[in-house]
Amino acid sequence: MSDYKLLINGALVDGDSELDVINPATEEVLARAPRASKAQLDAAVAAAQAAFPGWRDTPIAERKAKLTEIADIIQANAVELGRLLTQEQGKPIGDATGEVYGASAFFRYFTMLDLPVKVLDDSEARKVEVHRRPLGVVGAIVPWNFPMILMAFKVPAALLAGNTMVLKPAPTTPLSTLKLAALIKDVLPPGVLNVIADGGELGAAMTAHPGIRKISYTGSTATGKKVMAGAADALKRITLELGGNDASIVLEGSDPKTVAPKIFAGAFQNSGQVCIAIKRAYVHDSIYDAMCEELAQLADAAVVGDGLEQGTQLGPIQNKTQYDRVMGLIESARADGKIIAGGERLDRKGYFIKPTIVRDITDGTRLVDEEQFGPVLPVIRYHDAEDALARANNSEYGLGGSIWSPDLDAAYDLATRMESGTVWVNKHADLAPNIPFGGAKGSGIGVELGEEGLAEFTQLQVINVAR
Ligand code: NAD
Repeated sequence: MSDYKLLINGALVDGDSELDVINPATEEVLARAPRASKAQLDAAVAAAQAAFPGWRDTPIAERKAKLTEIADIIQANAVELGRLLTQEQGKPIGDATGEVYGASAFFRYFTMLDLPVKVLDDSEARKVEVHRRPLGVVGAIVPWNFPMILMAFKVPAALLAGNTMVLKPAPTTPLSTLKLAALIKDVLPPGVLNVIADGGELGAAMTAHPGIRKISYTGSTATGKKVMAGAADALKRITLELGGNDASIVLEGSDPKTVAPKIFAGAFQNSGQVCIAIKRAYVHDSIYDAMCEELAQLADAAVVGDGLEQGTQLGPIQNKTQYDRVMGLIESARADGKIIAGGERLDRKGYFIKPTIVRDITDGTRLVDEEQFGPVLPVIRYHDAEDALARANNSEYGLGGSIWSPDLDAAYDLATRMESGTVWVNKHADLAPNIPFGGAKGSGIGVELGEEGLAEFTQLQVINVAR
């Protein structure tokens, strides 16, 4: 019987079946996880529906107090949760613990927000107010690359707004979320937050579920399209945070020694399994060779290993399917460019791939055009910055991007014309809970975080009174 339980209607319960969770650093079974049946999903939705009126009518100050309590519990258990996160996800223990502390901070951030009534007209003729009402039951679907922080993009905002929830982590990384559910089970009234886990089949059922009013989904663009189609019938609200193929454009005059370590970090954090990782680097002809050399040296020096081992900088790929996909992309790059670092797996058990730098590759190849979501970076030569921008924008994706230059005006000008939800200048992947985050084009619909993200968990209601 699994040590981990589902949280349904305030009670910790076994799944109707179970599944193995694999540690990607060892390829061994880390734990058995409960696997909810469709009937258990229905029970979770029914519990969330029943809890909704009470939670909606709870004063916002009390809802904030509950979020603070959860933030405290996450913080107090960060070491244990971080260790579990490393074991199921693969990332180095320092990064995993940092992710858990980050989740706590995101809960705290939302306690500082409010949903004030906006008065549009207060005249002799009428009073017009705009209210933000909760939607009802929110279904939150989270991927396997950042189980804790991406959960914290959704849960505190949805709950603060007065919604109740069914939360589902990814099938390969359910444990830290289930552990958290057990830790906080008594904080909220029964049914306000339900946590289920599955083998990959309940996401579609949640999306189509008539009892769920909104789906907040983070994951691949391919699955995001299915979520949108599945939600159409009930005109369910959706927020989609999807894939990306972030380009960095390094302008003439940049110093390779200064910029390369930052590009490397932006591309290889979490072994490249980051939606906003740098996935294509366009580098000006004048510094192309030097940048390639610097990046290759950094890749050769990076310590790849089990995230629990001291000194590990890059962990394994989280699961076998993704590992096979990244190895396939590396094989394709062998023909399309020149591999100057990495290009192979580690000679040990676990889904380890050496950080890989590919040069002399260009657009129109799989590695440049597709989202690799792994530790391999194509470095593309360009001559003209406008041409580089056009190539960066020539993508179905538009999540993030960055421009690098000592000339801030030139960088800023290009940044304003990049077709992505976020553009950074001289940095990449700087997120904070008060900064709205979302994708352009095929990278998503809507935003999370910040006041704008909170608003997406509400229904706007106008009250217009005659006088
Ligand atoms: P995925 O789409 O395979 O799975 C994500 C989640 O969706 C899982 O919980 C899964 O069980 C669920 N799911 C599967 N089929 C479903 C369906 N038909 N309907 C609803 N849900 C379903 O994604 P993944 O491989 O776990 O994650 C990697 C992807 O996520 C990458 O493309 C990455 O760029 C993207 N991502 C985006 C962001 C962002 O904020 N934009 C953040 C992290 C990851």
